[in-house]
Amino acid sequence: MTYRGKWHGRKFYFGLHYDLHAGEGDATLGTRCSMKELVPMLKLMKPDFVQTDCKGHPGYTSWFSKVKSASVPPKLKKDALRQWREATKALGLPLHCHYSGIWDKAAGKKHPEWCTVDSEGGIAGAPSGQNAGAPTGEKMCPLGPYLDKLMIPQMIELIDRYDVDGFWIDGDLWSTEPCYCKLCRGEFTKKTGIAKPPVKETDPDWPAWWNFTRENFESYVTKYCDAVHKHKPGVLVCSNWLQTFNNPGEPKVPTDWISGDNTWVFGLDQSRCEARFLSTRGKPWDIMLWNFYCSHGMGKPESPWTAKPQQMLMQEASVILSFGGNVQIYENPGAVRDGRLIPWRQKRLNDVGNFVKKRRAVCQGSESIPQIAVLHSEHHIRNTVKGRNLMWGIDSAPVKGAVMSLLENHYGVDVLDEWALLPRLADFPAVVVPERHAMSEKMAIALKEYVRNGGSLVVSGAEIFDRLGAEFLGVTKGEIQKDKAFHVPAADGSVSLFSAAWRLVKPKTADVIEGLGTTLLLDDCILPYPAATINRVGKGRVAYIPADVFRDFERNRYPLTRAFIGKVAAKTIGSLPIQVDAPVCVDVAMRTKEEKTIIHLINRLSGIPNQPNNGAIDEIPMAGPITMTISRPSKPKTVTAPLEKGEIKWSYAKGKLTVKLSRVHIHEAVVIK
Ligand SMILES: [Zn+2]
Repeated sequence: MTYRGKWHGRKFYFGLHYDLHAGEGDATLGTRCSMKELVPMLKLMKPDFVQTDCKGHPGYTSWFSKVKSASVPPKLKKDALRQWREATKALGLPLHCHYSGIWDKAAGKKHPEWCTVDSEGGIAGAPSGQNAGAPTGEKMCPLGPYLDKLMIPQMIELIDRYDVDGFWIDGDLWSTEPCYCKLCRGEFTKKTGIAKPPVKETDPDWPAWWNFTRENFESYVTKYCDAVHKHKPGVLVCSNWLQTFNNPGEPKVPTDWISGDNTWVFGLDQSRCEARFLSTRGKPWDIMLWNFYCSHGMGKPESPWTAKPQQMLMQEASVILSFGGNVQIYENPGAVRDGRLIPWRQKRLNDVGNFVKKRRAVCQGSESIPQIAVLHSEHHIRNTVKGRNLMWGIDSAPVKGAVMSLLENHYGVDVLDEWALLPRLADFPAVVVPERHAMSEKMAIALKEYVRNGGSLVVSGAEIFDRLGAEFLGVTKGEIQKDKAFHVPAADGSVSLFSAAWRLVKPKTADVIEGLGTTLLLDDCILPYPAATINRVGKGRVAYIPADVFRDFERNRYPLTRAFIGKVAAKTIGSLPIQVDAPVCVDVAMRTKEEKTIIHLINRLSGIPNQPNNGAIDEIPMAGPITMTISRPSKPKTVTAPLEKGEIKWSYAKGKLTVKLSRVHIHEAVVIK
């Protein structure tokens, strides 16, 4: 049985995360965070839980660690952690430590033998930033002595000395890459029988090597979870980004909750996928939003960090909240490293907190109303991986493209890996398999059975043909053309669709949904091969798009491609019990709680015209009107829109409820009782 995790309680909903990544030269840490200074700042923001600076990627502690291999800044004067503990205790707030795990530069300097070794035998540098690829020895080997000699002893020290309530381990999954140290090489051969670990990502043994790394990382996290839980039950542990969208598969590692810090800019887009996946993990979860952003990438001196407008944070929070997640905000006051928080920013965060807390009653503890399940197969990821990094090295672009294109067509979408989908397949009226040909055999068999029993399935990609077969898809095997753009009719026109592989099939038992052309002309240069087909199998239907359509959408987001996908989806799925007609910018989340139907509407607009050098969201304009039709056997008692001020009208006749909402500003929830 998979561990279901643990959290402090339902009212701990909105958090503050503060970290500085202390370095060797830091002397003033904690000199300005006495009770007198810190308590009023926390009262200004009113978080429900707090995470504070402890040990960052440079590896230096902001407390006086006595563990033998610890690195304490030599000129450190004050114990910041003690003061954060006193202030949070006084306010009744749980306190977590921000602690960098795999990424520890100071430990690497003291103990080069603890470091991850690169394929040429040198010690590996940082996972990102200036020292990426440099021989600076910043990443610890998950099998090495670091865990037992430094990390676990420091976690125990923090529990015993400060009575901390939890750990948010940073620099972990996303800092881990294959290690070529003697121990890792030996274990790999012992486990797999492969004589030597591969060096190139294109090597056929690469997935085995990457998965070996993943399993080592998982047992490293399991060990520190077990050590903490054993030492003091009730202290919570999280490993940043573990078990999130970029790490699909059964969440076996016994962390207590799932969390990740979202990208500092354009964060809403990723959260649309993240929230739909995290809500299927069966554990408490949150997403951390950065309170600041910059243009032109991270760390460029000519593009300094700046505070996000409140509306930007509110918009980012909405998608997380609507799927039942908690929210925390990452604050880092830049050059102010003495422990002071910035009053005007704390005040702004209070506005964001009020927005978040207002939504708790309608959002927390809700469940999805299944419409479309997008398959995010862990087997596909693990069988086809061509990257190094455990988080960034995977290819999930087609899954994102499927989520985004279906959302723009106003479907309710959940993202499930095989572990989550297999037991719940029959709950979903429709399943989309976006270019996931390396899914497990069990999944492929289950999907065929699902269609025979009446399910609607959309599959894409040239390669999936070999997994599902000619008879099931109702088309010929055809031939493959590589790196081609063909023209696909959509709406009133036609759109170019590039695919690394196009399968040119001919329909046998399947019907053609759209044809395929070699030019933009709609009535000439038409090929005898379809862009999409639909085949009846048993009581259900399967649609086939024989190209990388969802990868294309993730990359290009063309409105005509969205229209093409919308047509294929509508033909395959037919009408669903809840239908939403809204502007493209409005995302829908369909949830249920205490027998209420809740339709969340999230407006993704910005009032600032988009430019390539500007990711800011502010002055969000209203979007609407929105019409919802809901099939239900009886007239509801009430239909309300409790969060914003849009005008709501509804009527019920012949089993159909029609709700019209005049507009949504950032996030409204239509609650039907
Ligand atoms: Zn190693």
